[in-house]
Amino acid sequence: MTTPAPQRAAAPRRSIALFGGTFDPIHSGHIAVAQAAQRRFHLDAIHFIPSSRPPHKSQQELTLFIHRYAMTALACAEHPGFLPSLAEAPAAPPHVFYSIETVRKFRREHPDDHLYFIIGADQFLEFPTWKSYEQLLDSCDFIVASRPGFRLDALRLIVPPEKLGRSSGHDQHKIVLRKSVVHLLTTVASHVSSTEVRERLQRNQGIHGLVPPRVEEYILGQALYR
Ligand code: ATP
Repeated sequence: MTTPAPQRAAAPRRSIALFGGTFDPIHSGHIAVAQAAQRRFHLDAIHFIPSSRPPHKSQQELTLFIHRYAMTALACAEHPGFLPSLAEAPAAPPHVFYSIETVRKFRREHPDDHLYFIIGADQFLEFPTWKSYEQLLDSCDFIVASRPGFRLDALRLIVPPEKLGRSSGHDQHKIVLRKSVVHLLTTVASHVSSTEVRERLQRNQGIHGLVPPRVEEYILGQALYR
């Protein structure tokens, strides 16, 4: 009689989130969103993914990827569970990074984990212009952060009706789809934007408090956005 092989305990399912952006530069609004999401969804890891070539912003306007990545890494260093990611680091041109591909890549690498995609309300409203957005909606759960000036009730309008799940009543905190859930993160309300940070620096104004301290130090040391 053969003795059965000892069963290896399955690794506990982790909750991980992807937070993509231009991060030009990363600012305290991004950090506030990530912290609120980390607390509410008990996230084990948040991957901050600066995009080297975002489809929606023209290449000329962007600061070098290496600077944007360095600032993201400095901001992450202050928070356990925040991880800078090279998933959308420069690749041979004309490669443009689409979120659907990035989500699929993480899904392949973390097949058993609960995957979330963090996004601001302004960007979620643009979703219908994103590549394969209907497939993207099916591919993971979403955490949509409120942003001053954008109404969260408008978010329901961008979900195709046939994607709505049976139990999708009018819950203020989530939209239940057939294959995923869109959670609304209403506990953050940061007015900060990268545009404001860049404009203040161009006008020689201070940015203290608008970006994490190490990011401020980096921007001033490298004389960025002058
Ligand atoms: P820019 O001003 O250059 O357009 P941004 O401040 O919107 O930049 P991004 O790097 O483009 O920053 O944003 C990355 C993600 O973070 C997007 O999903 C965006 O909606 C979200 N986000 C940025 N700032 C905030 C904020 N203050 N509150 C909530 N979400 C935010």
